[in-house]
Amino acid sequence: MTGQILIAGAGEAGLAAAITLRELGYPGTVTLVGAEPEGPYQRPPLSKEFLTAATPPAIPELRAAQFYAEHRIDLVRGTGVRTATWTRTGGVAGLGDGRELPFDAMVLATGSVPLPLPVPGAGLPGIHRLRTLADAHALRDQLEHATRVVVVGGGFIGLEVAAAARTKGASVTVVEAADRLLARVVAEPVSRFVREHHAAAGIRFLLHTRVTGLVAADSAAGGPRVGSVVLATPTGEVRLAADLVVVGVGARPVTELAAHLGVTDERGIVVDAHARTADPRVVAAGDCTVQPHPRDPDRLIRLESVHNATEQGRQAAHSLLGKPHPPRGVPYFWSNQGELKLQIAGLSDDHDDLVVRTDADRCTVLYYRSGALIAADSVNHPRDHLTVKRALASAATIDPARAADPAAPLKTLVTPLR
Ligand SMILES: Cc1cc2nc3c(=O)[nH]c(=O)nc-3n(C[C@H](O)[C@H](O)[C@H](O)COP(=O)(O)OP(=O)(O)OC[C@H]3O[C@@H](n4cnc5c(N)ncnc54)[C@H](O)[C@@H]3O)c2cc1C
Repeated sequence: MTGQILIAGAGEAGLAAAITLRELGYPGTVTLVGAEPEGPYQRPPLSKEFLTAATPPAIPELRAAQFYAEHRIDLVRGTGVRTATWTRTGGVAGLGDGRELPFDAMVLATGSVPLPLPVPGAGLPGIHRLRTLADAHALRDQLEHATRVVVVGGGFIGLEVAAAARTKGASVTVVEAADRLLARVVAEPVSRFVREHHAAAGIRFLLHTRVTGLVAADSAAGGPRVGSVVLATPTGEVRLAADLVVVGVGARPVTELAAHLGVTDERGIVVDAHARTADPRVVAAGDCTVQPHPRDPDRLIRLESVHNATEQGRQAAHSLLGKPHPPRGVPYFWSNQGELKLQIAGLSDDHDDLVVRTDADRCTVLYYRSGALIAADSVNHPRDHLTVKRALASAATIDPARAADPAAPLKTLVTPLR
């Protein structure tokens, strides 16, 4: 195709789509519109080294400014695409700054936003969330002075922030409604390993505990500010003192723009395995999408990872230009929580068996379905992670009977799938 391709959302997915369009030789206009003031940057460091570095680190840009000029990518920053409509001659996008941009095809790469905590007091100063560079700067500033930090949510971002706050010397409590950490994504042995590691570093965990309110401190200099967190525990209501609260209870896909184009449902922007929506002029990629599960295409899943965002962004570009699609790789994710490095390869949600390999310092859980390896979570075990990733990429499996021995190198147990 020729003409004008408009990419809404200048994150990992949007940038990957823009770069791939140029790599594939697309000659037309590529406009990458991002609502944030910065050009595309990496989000993962925001909850990790960005919070703990002694001096404020530089913006973790994905590409330097001249890259966009060299590749003829028109980067529009600091304003979002508010509306998108089809006319008889093509699409018209209305930007937040009042401009109108025509387009022939659109890439929706609008990401996700943190879910709010739906309790009284959630808007008090001193309560933070973490998605953007601006959020990270604000949180970093607060962490300099905070002494009692409460993290609401024992997911990846919550645990990364908790580890960072502990490194900075604060007393840290993580409050989690489920009965274990990371319950949506890893098996119980990994949850336990992670909790024990953080507990040994001094982080306190309140599991099976809900936050029901946030209350201002009695007399805070400079105006009202959070002073305590109200908890519903199995034994009744409790108040926990806090001078900084970080909420990490999940994120919702940004679908407002997609709704204008009629390609969304309540779970996200619905795409196929190649990032195509029901409208051939519109593709979508990254955290804003739901896509078919690779083993069960009738089930739509949301993958929130850098790997998925970049891969779907590339798929989206191929789809728009009608090019043969590159193969999808093995999904992977990582989370650095202080000294602890958690790595996930593959999708484990439909496993029917698992094998645990653990010793004092590290832990790997291998997931199987119908006897075949489908995924693994590794904590502080990059070698196991790499072996599993390679095995999955080459349609191999790992002998479950022998994998439980942590002394047996996994790579010696890899066999082709029969
Ligand atoms: C703190 C943090 C730590 C993370 N750590 C890890 C990690 O360790 N490993 C990992 O794999 N993943 C991690 N992730 C997840 C990963 O960063 C995301 O999955 C990935 O960035 C998604 O990319 P995306 O392009 O889909 O969305 P985003 O990166 O969210 O980009 C979407 C962009 O679109 C903009 N936008 C929204 N609506 C509009 C509009 N209408 N017009 C224009 N622009 C719009 C948004 O402002 C945003 O800038 C982390 C995420 C966060 C927040």
